Amino acid sequence: MKRSWEGVVLKVMGAKDFSLEVTGREQITPNFLRLHLSDGGMLAATKIHPTMWIRLWFTDAGRPHQRAYTLVDPDPVAGTFSIDFAMHDGAAANWARTVQAGDTIEATVQGSSFEPPAAAPRRLWVVGDPASVPAINSLLDAVAASEDSPPATLWLEHQHDGDTALALHTRPGDAVVWLPRERGGAHLVETVCAALAPGAVDIERDWFWIACEAAGTRAITKHLRRTLGVDKRRISALGYWRA
Ligand SMILES: Cc1cc2nc3c(=O)[nH]c(=O)nc-3n(C[C@H](O)[C@H](O)[C@H](O)COP(=O)(O)OP(=O)(O)OC[C@H]3O[C@@H](n4cnc5c(N)ncnc54)[C@H](O)[C@@H]3O)c2cc1C
Repeated sequence: MKRSWEGVVLKVMGAKDFSLEVTGREQITPNFLRLHLSDGGMLAATKIHPTMWIRLWFTDAGRPHQRAYTLVDPDPVAGTFSIDFAMHDGAAANWARTVQAGDTIEATVQGSSFEPPAAAPRRLWVVGDPASVPAINSLLDAVAASEDSPPATLWLEHQHDGDTALALHTRPGDAVVWLPRERGGAHLVETVCAALAPGAVDIERDWFWIACEAAGTRAITKHLRRTLGVDKRRISALGYWRA
């Protein structure tokens, strides 16, 4: 595929490119699809970390279209991993809807990082939706494997009935609240900001991991920074999609 300007810049920045091959598919819910892939040497050539994402190159109306997706169950020895697609009407989701075993897709590894606080947090606060469930599960796995294993509270926004059935890697004691996407995401933002009040959080010791729709991610981050005064090093925030 011919590269977009973005692809050329990524290459100059040292990004590594790989060709992935689809090896199977699994419909998890009517709106959540898992593709199994062989990695074209990617996992052996890159260091993997929790919440790790890669850039996949799709074609949209004849033009290169790059979108981020999270690695699920990466196995560097076998050279395999999976990707979970939250379904909607978009070039990436539509590619996943029709792709078959044996089809290939180009991937670029550049930009993913994982920066937990230096000291173990008292509590982890997570905001997401089906697009960030794969990242959240890898985050919860990492937290569970840590010595202090802080408890987590999760707010997850859903748009489809089946979303609330998605498997979460929560532990006993973690709290999960699923909220319907209402008023363009305002319901999620208001609920989260009301709960994340001065008496409930410890801004010196808690860790906030926010990955929902871009406007909601921005609004919740603003609340944490400006209203509560949370240091930016205690917040991992990235808009996962744009309404
Ligand atoms: C670091 C990172 C990791 C990510 N990992 C994953 C992952 O593992 N699995 C996953 O499913 N997504 C993941 N995403 C989100 C994914 O990249 C976006 O959803 C992307 O916009 C999908 O591209 P598209 O071409 O299908 O749709 P686009 O062309 O971007 O959008 C087409 C239309 O679909 C809507 N739309 C796009 N995404 C969503 C959504 N998630 N829910 C509802 N409507 C949507 C848009 O508002 C637009 O109207 C990740 C994003 C980031 C930043």
